[in-house]
Amino acid sequence: MFCWLSRLFRDLSRSTGRTTQPIWGSLSRSLILSSQRSIPELSSFVARTNTCGELRSSHLGQEVTLCGWIQYRRQNIFLVLRDFHGLVQVVIPQDESAASVKKILCEAPVESVVQVSGTVISRPPGQENPKMPTGEIEIKVKTAKLLNSCKKLPFEIKDFVKKTETLRLQYRYLDLRGAQMQYNLRLRSQMVMKMREYLCNLHGFVDIETPTLFKRTPGGAKEFVVPSREPGKFYSLPQSPQQFKQLLMVGGLDRYFQVARCYRDEGSRPDRQPEFTQIDIEMSFVDQTGIQSLIEGLLQYSWPSDKDPVMVPFPSMTFAEALANYGTDKPDTRFGMKIVDISDMFRNTEIGYLQDALSKPQGTIKAICIPEGAKYLKRNDIESIRKFAVDHFNQCSLLGKLRLECADLLEARGVVLRDPALFSFLWVVDFPLFLPKEENPQELESAHHPFTAPHPSDIHLLYTEPQKVRSQHYDLVLNGSEVGGGSIRIHNAELQRYVLAAVLKEDVKLLSHLLQALDYGAPPHGGIALGLDRLMCLVTGAPSIRDVIAFPKSFRGHDLMSNAPDSITPEELKPYHIQVSWPTDSAKKRAR
Ligand code: ASP
Repeated sequence: MFCWLSRLFRDLSRSTGRTTQPIWGSLSRSLILSSQRSIPELSSFVARTNTCGELRSSHLGQEVTLCGWIQYRRQNIFLVLRDFHGLVQVVIPQDESAASVKKILCEAPVESVVQVSGTVISRPPGQENPKMPTGEIEIKVKTAKLLNSCKKLPFEIKDFVKKTETLRLQYRYLDLRGAQMQYNLRLRSQMVMKMREYLCNLHGFVDIETPTLFKRTPGGAKEFVVPSREPGKFYSLPQSPQQFKQLLMVGGLDRYFQVARCYRDEGSRPDRQPEFTQIDIEMSFVDQTGIQSLIEGLLQYSWPSDKDPVMVPFPSMTFAEALANYGTDKPDTRFGMKIVDISDMFRNTEIGYLQDALSKPQGTIKAICIPEGAKYLKRNDIESIRKFAVDHFNQCSLLGKLRLECADLLEARGVVLRDPALFSFLWVVDFPLFLPKEENPQELESAHHPFTAPHPSDIHLLYTEPQKVRSQHYDLVLNGSEVGGGSIRIHNAELQRYVLAAVLKEDVKLLSHLLQALDYGAPPHGGIALGLDRLMCLVTGAPSIRDVIAFPKSFRGHDLMSNAPDSITPEELKPYHIQVSWPTDSAKKRAR
């Protein structure tokens, strides 16, 4: 939390202290001035002449009308008014003739929303506030209107006031009033705008919406089902627009993109949401390097100007290298501490358990060198590393996890390993086309999805040793998180049918429409999807993806504000021909 706040302070151009006031001031300045080429008209069509945050000495003498929330009041003399753009000081008139204005402004509770009209005047000498972008001026009010009063709040609208995430999600509309959420959502909007600009205006992509009521796709993630009025028939919410975007290529659309909502019923994880957003892209007549260059250009173009610029091309690493050196397919390359194979040093060892390890098929001994570990790591750190290794024993990803665990321990002792201001992009390529299924390692499943094309030099292996086939699948990794993935697709119906039926043992009937389409002159094509929520989370340095989504679900997939998912009555269920085995009251409580 602290690191997140301090990032914001550093990122914003005029950081001045740990109060809400400077955050608001800096927020408006950095967002409006740094990220937009032409300054937008912020007061068109509405009941104000100006925003609170924009007023400066250059507005002196102007008659203005402002609308905003009462941030705080000082001694019934000053009132600080806030809108999305910033804060401004309003002087409450004290003379008898303005008694009604004074009454409104002094009696309205904090966070009430008011409209004031008056003149922009300079503050008396010595009373300027250099920490406030509007700190040279104040508003001499003539008229005031209480637009709506505010009841006692469940929490103060100040970022530094701690509140539980449950409370924040329950009153999300209030949480959104805070400077950090405003910053995150506005930055997200600006990045998406620039992405659209880059894709549509600079590179001729077409923004196309695809259905969200669809049918089950074999393989991959679990899908949400939606009952229909036909007995026993259900829609599925798509995990991604994968089939549609490929069909658009068959349809000759050539370059497609969409800010697409995707749905996966995969249970809760800290960096996942049951519904999330992808920047979804597909192109015809493209190869892997074409997609990679497009994405590098896209990120460079849309990157916020208050962050360090993105350097391209991004480095690339094979899946095999990533696993060997970092123990994961999404390495955090901001720091070294690579895994090294030291088996050769122990070929003649007499240490029993090492001999044992080496005697196993493909048995190896690997190590991670922790620079200055002896200096920084204390006895209980070593003990926690040992316990971590025991707890995760037999997971092949153990060493990768241990590397990150050691990094956490070193950082807890004050060593800076992963600079949060650094953005380390990496392509991971040459994935295997198939992986053994977790629940039944004899069977294979797609490493990416069943539409991914094999590596051209491995096609022959498909029919003999499919587990050895490399794919044309590529992932984009940022600071150790997967932020994108895609592939060149199979565009030959026969090959696609073979992969589905012979290798993956899927029911090809479910995909007959796609197989048929591939037979009608489908062009070679490929694409990628960027996970927008995760990307924004890393860009803003937010602790959770819920902090870059306006109305996220809780960790358990619930909307805590409206209480969705909610039960419906047996009467309402009737048209869907569904019977529910209703949970007992105690099970209901547990699920909450
Ligand atoms: N549809 C894929 C996914 O969601 C991305 C792609 O292959 O383009 O992972």
